[in-house]
Parts: sequence; structure tokens; C-alpha cells
Amino acid sequence: MPGPAAASSAVPPPPRKHLGQHFLVDPNIARKMVTAAALRPRDVVFEIGPGRGALTRLLCERAAKVIAVEIDRQLVRYLSAVLAGDAALELHHGDAMTFACDELPKGTVVIANVPYAVSTPLLFRLLRARDRISRMVLMLQREVAARILAAPGSRDYGVLSVMSRYYAEPRKAFAVPASCFRPVPDVDSAVVTFVGRSDPRGDADFDRVFAQLVRGAFAHRRKTLMNSWREEGWDPASMRRILEHAGIDPRRRAETLGVPEFLTLAQAVSVDRAHPGPPPRRADAAER
Ligand code: SAM
Repeated sequence: MPGPAAASSAVPPPPRKHLGQHFLVDPNIARKMVTAAALRPRDVVFEIGPGRGALTRLLCERAAKVIAVEIDRQLVRYLSAVLAGDAALELHHGDAMTFACDELPKGTVVIANVPYAVSTPLLFRLLRARDRISRMVLMLQREVAARILAAPGSRDYGVLSVMSRYYAEPRKAFAVPASCFRPVPDVDSAVVTFVGRSDPRGDADFDRVFAQLVRGAFAHRRKTLMNSWREEGWDPASMRRILEHAGIDPRRRAETLGVPEFLTLAQAVSVDRAHPGPPPRRADAAER
């Protein structure tokens, strides 16, 4: 890493819009995010997109180690200069979408002002790495936060709401106006915390069945459960049997089911030996 002389002369590169570079310029928000993470001195933090280091500096003061991955090589150079010599920082140049989250130390805390363009697939990636991650504090576009936190029956309730609650306990921490960033984005933001569930729902096979059921159910959200699954090419006789076993009316729509009911359905699928299982689908099909 370059020495202090380089640090004092480092000039940040101009923001690159296509990488979602809206940098946090309100130090209060950075402090509130770090407080929401309830860091202990021995914690390891994973920061996605450190940018110009608005959060990174604080994190390095509060945690034992900060593993940060930034896709923009120019920003990596800049950060290496301004945070030169900070022993807590392990800075990687790379894409968070391919970063080996399953190799993070157990109990890692994730903190990020998430690049909006990849927020949903990135969230799914992080949620799936639940055996490594103890909790997350994520700055998200306000609309994405609303979808995560939506209750059954509401317009925003969907795959993201159900899957977030399947893996974790999401809670809204606070709202963040667009004026806290430079350049100022077109949208407001919200910080959401996710605490890993103490009662993991199932193993990898069960996770897969659960995710397929939910995605199939919401694929045609104005239709009944039966019709949505049928449109997705699932065997109606098996699905009727499974709904009956789970005690769920086939005329209901996905948006009326809470996570416990989807869990009951996934359990019914698991015990229905005659059911060949939903057709294989790409893991990321409903994550865009
Ligand atoms: N954390 C900084 C802050 O709060 O000011 C920057 C946040 S900015 C919204 C998002 C950051 O993520 C940018 O620095 C951008 O270059 C980076 N980024 C975008 N896509 C990324 C990806 N796929 N993997 C890693 N970093 C990414």
C-alpha cells in the first residue's frame, strides 16, 4: 500500500453512474449504520462497495477486520492510498456477485450501501450464505426495502418479502433521503437490518423446494395458487394433493399466504413421495 504522502495527495476518481456510485456524504448516516450493526471489537465485517470509504473508515475503527470488495479499480487504488496502513482493512478488487461469500469467517457482519442495480440478486446471495453471516445492515433503495418488509395482502408483498423472512428477520432501521448522497440519486433509501434466524428452516434441499414453491406461486400473482403453478408447468394433480395435505384452499392467491403457510406447503411437498418435485429452474430466475 502507498504511504502517508500518497494518502494526503489522493484525489477521488469521478463517480461512475453505471456502477451505482452515489456516495454517502452525511457522516451521521454512516454512524447510524455502524451503530445498527452493534459491532464488537472482535467482529469481522464484510463491506460491499466501499466506494470512497464513508463507511469503511468507521468500520476499521470498530471491528477486528474489514473485508471489503469494490468493483471499480480506480476506487480500489484511491482507497488503498487514503486508508494506507490500516491493518484492519483487507481490500479486494472484484465483483461482489462472484465473491466467495461461503468462505467468509463464521459470524461475519455484512454492512453495505448496496449498489442498486444488483441489490436483489446480491441480497439473495447474502441470504443464502446464512451459515457464514450473523447479521446484515444494508442501505437499499426505499422501494426494495418496502418489498422486503411488506406484509401479506399488500401490494409490495412478493418473493423478496417471503424469502427474506425465510432466511432472516428483516427490520426497518431508518429512512435516508436522497440528499445524503453525491451525486444525488433519483430515489430515496432505507436501511434494513437482517438478523440470521436462530431456527434455521431446513437443509439445502428444503431451501430449494421452498424457493421453487414461492417463485411458482408468485409467477402469476393475480391467479390462484393452482393456476399459477399450472402455468409454470407443474403437475396439477400433485399440487392439489399437496395443498390438501397442507390444509390450504387452492383458490387462494400467493399474496395471501404468510411464511408459515409456505413452510407448511414445502413440508407437504417433502412428504409427498409421489410428487416428482417442481421442474428444475435456474436458481436466479426470480431474483431479477
Ligand atoms: N459505500 C460507499 C458509500 O456509502 O459512499 C459507496 C456506495 S455506492 C452506492 C456503491 C459502491 O459499490 C460503489 O463504490 C460501486 O463502485 C460499488 N459496486 C457496484 N457494483 C459492485 C459489485 N458488483 N461488486 C462490488 N462493488 C460494486
